[in-house]
Parts: sequence; C-alpha cells; structure tokens
Amino acid sequence: MKPADVVVVGGGPAGAASAIFLALQGLSVTLLDRARFPRDKVCGEFISPAADALLAEMGVLERIEAAAPVRLKGIFLSAYNERPLVVDYPPQFPGGPPMSSLSVPRRVLDALILQRARDCGVKVLEEHAVTDFMLRDGAAAGVTGRDPAGTSFEMPARLVIDAGGRNCLSIRRFGLRKQPAGKKVKIALAAHWHGGRDFAPYCYMHVHPPGYTGIAPTGPGEVNTVLVVDGAVLKGRDPQEFYVETVLACASRRELLAGAAPMEKVRTVDSLAYSVRPPAIGRLLLVGDAMGFMDPFTGEGIYLSLRSAKIAAEAAGRALAGAEFSPRALMGYSEKREREFRLKFVLSRALERLIERPAVCRRVIRALAARPALAEDLVGVIGDYFPAEKAVSARFLVRLLWAMGAPGFTAEKRGRDGNLPAVFPEG
Ligand SMILES: Cc1cc2nc3c(=O)[nH]c(=O)nc-3n(C[C@H](O)[C@H](O)[C@H](O)COP(=O)(O)OP(=O)(O)OC[C@H]3O[C@@H](n4cnc5c(N)ncnc54)[C@H](O)[C@@H]3O)c2cc1C
Repeated sequence: MKPADVVVVGGGPAGAASAIFLALQGLSVTLLDRARFPRDKVCGEFISPAADALLAEMGVLERIEAAAPVRLKGIFLSAYNERPLVVDYPPQFPGGPPMSSLSVPRRVLDALILQRARDCGVKVLEEHAVTDFMLRDGAAAGVTGRDPAGTSFEMPARLVIDAGGRNCLSIRRFGLRKQPAGKKVKIALAAHWHGGRDFAPYCYMHVHPPGYTGIAPTGPGEVNTVLVVDGAVLKGRDPQEFYVETVLACASRRELLAGAAPMEKVRTVDSLAYSVRPPAIGRLLLVGDAMGFMDPFTGEGIYLSLRSAKIAAEAAGRALAGAEFSPRALMGYSEKREREFRLKFVLSRALERLIERPAVCRRVIRALAARPALAEDLVGVIGDYFPAEKAVSARFLVRLLWAMGAPGFTAEKRGRDGNLPAVFPEG
C-alpha cells in the first residue's frame, strides 16, 4: 500500500483540524477514529471566541452558523454563594464589534468538522481502532489496527499525528504523561437538560462544594450541565443520582434549571489536568488533549486543539517538504505551542487553585466586580483573544491586589452588581 503523507489518529477537533490544515496544503491524509460519528464527548461545549477565526480558516464556521448555534455573550461566575459576577466579552479592539462564544453540542460540532475534513479530500475511516504504531529506526512509519469487521490492518505513512485525546495511544505506549504529584482525581459528570425556561446566553460557572458546574444553553430548550468534583466524593454513589442531587443542591443552579430535567443518562470522564512529554520518536506529533489538558474550568480545550492542530500541520508540512523528521526537527511544533500557551497554562493552574480557596475566591470576585476593566481583561484572556500577559503579569496582580485591599472597599462599591438582572431578562 502506498503510504499516505500523514495518518491522523482521532477525529475529534484536534485530529479533524490537523487533517484539514494538512489537506489544505495539498498533502494526502488518512484519518482513523474508532468511533462512528456523530459521537458524543463530555464537554462544557462552549468554545473560546478566538476559535471563530480558526473555524473560518478551516471552512467550518459557515456550516456551524447554518445550524443556528447558540452564541454566548460572556461569563457568569458565582462562587460560595458570593454575589455573582457577570462579564460580557469585551470587544477585541476599542470600538470593535462585541465578541461571543459558540455553544454547540459536541455531537454536532465534531461531526461538522469531520465532514469538512472529508470534503477537503481527507480519507476518513470511522470504526477503525488504532492499536499500535509501526516503528522503523526509532520513527513512526504508520499505524496498525482493527477495522469494523475486526480484521487487522496496517496503514503506512510518512508522518503520524496522534490526536487520540486524553488516553491516546502515544501517552500509554511511551509513558508520556507527567502525572501531577499529589493531585486528587477529578471526575466530570455531564448531561444535557431539557424542559426549563429560557435564560440569557451566558456560560454560567458555579463554584459550590463539592465542586463546580459549567451550565450553558446549547439549543432551543436545551442546556448542557457539567459537574466537576473530586472523584472520592462519588465513591459508592450512583452517578446519576449523585449528579442531579449535587447540581440542584445550589440555589442559583436550582433557579437556572427550574422545570428542567436531564434528557439523557449522565456521562462521566476523568477530568484531571496533566501535561505530556513530547515523544522521543521521529515522524510522530501529538495534538490536542494528547499533548496535555488544562483544567476545564476555563473551557479552552477546543481552541487549544484547533490552534495546536494548525501549528502541527505547519511543522508537518515543513518536515514533509524537507524530508527531515527527527524528533529534534519536529520539536519546533511543541516549542511554539509551549511559547503560545505557557502563560495560559499558568493562569489555568492559578484559577484551579483559587476556586478551591473560598475566602480568597470571594475576595477576588468582589474585586473583579468592583473593577470591570480588570474582569474584562481576564475574560478576554480566557477567551483567547487578549494576549495572556494582560492577566498573567505583575501589573494585573498589582491592580487586583489593590482592588482587593483598597481602603474603603465595600460591597456597595461593586460596579457590576447592577448587571445582575440583565442575565435573566427572558426568565
Ligand atoms: C469536563 C470537561 C469539560 C470541558 N469543557 C470544555 C469547554 O467548555 N470548552 C472547550 O473548549 N473545551 C472543553 N473541554 C476540553 C475539550 O473537551 C478537549 O480539549 C477536546 O475534546 C480535545 O479534543 P481532541 O480532539 O484532542 O480529543 P477528543 O475530542 O477526545 O477526540 C479524540 C478522538 O480520538 C479517538 N481515538 C482515541 N484513541 C483512538 C484509537 N486508538 N484509535 C482510533 N481512534 C481513537 C476517539 O474516539 C475520539 O473521537 C472540556 C473537557 C472536559 C473533560
């Protein structure tokens, strides 16, 4: 069999985007996924505003817009019963148009991106499980696996991209995951809810022991609700019962979901953040969750997947053109990804720690409420369209600390309190 230029393992956002960016360079690409699409995936399902530009470049945005997706206006954050903070996405440039984030069920989003890959000439093979790499002289020479009939196959390629997600083959086969020391196992439980009232299109984050939820409308009368908790609290409990009980234990969530009920069985996934060592194998690149995973609190995995797919496809294109595939030559990809996202990883870890500390978390929320400009900087960074330095810098920290400790700072001074009713205009 003539080798493809690139074999991509995984048809999620990372794999399908990699395949599209490669195919747009005129390369021959085969993509394999063990699932049949449309398939579901536990996810908050809101996508950073910055992803719009990448989806447009991939030729998918129009198709998503044609499906009349929900567009979220910003973020609603409530923690430990503190008065909520509501922040609209600030414009990217002063005087620019308002920004928004897509909120699309993964069953729909992933299938649309994969279809676009097909239309770009990618050979997509569903229900094809990749079981190992073909290795030659310390480099990947393709993959082996099983087709839907259970028959073994070999798929040779000049370069392999593993976009198999958090339990991808590379991580398991080469022991690449850097296990975060002393971290609790986090579990995410998710379901779409139906039958409630309409509410304003925000991403509603509630921090409320024993964890946090992300709630966002995903369609008419449909709301996605993800609960993230320390896995230990789930031990011995029925997941469905635990999920519904815990979600509704918070008054603000009860209000939001009044009259609604899960329309499907709750799905669970391990949701611990981790980082990954680049593989010391030639001709192999890791993209998306296969290359590391941020705590889902900031909901950025899809943008990170699409953006890293683009960087990886550029590196792959260069390697294929120059026939230089050593781990060193391919390192440019992981270095560039690291440079672009290092501060975002720092921010994600800081927020992950912050929400576990009720007293500090409350003070930070009050400070952000009192200083809308600070809150907007943070939200623009989380939305991936402001440079990370705007929120991960000594300057931001000083402004925040000042707002937290400014003399005469009282609850009455909170600038955003007046916004609260606007969150529920249709309620
Ligand atoms: C609780 C939670 C909430 C989240 N919320 C958000 C959010 O609101 N917004 C956001 O942007 N991100 C969010 N994320 C992150 C986001 O879901 C991921 O970053 C994103 O799905 C990564 O895409 P991917 O393509 O790398 O992996 P995946 O989407 O997991 O796709 C991997 C694909 O590879 C296939 N595969 C795996 N192994 C093999 C194999 N051996 N052979 C063949 N196929 C294989 C799988 O079938 C799958 O289709 C959340 C994550 C979690 C856990």
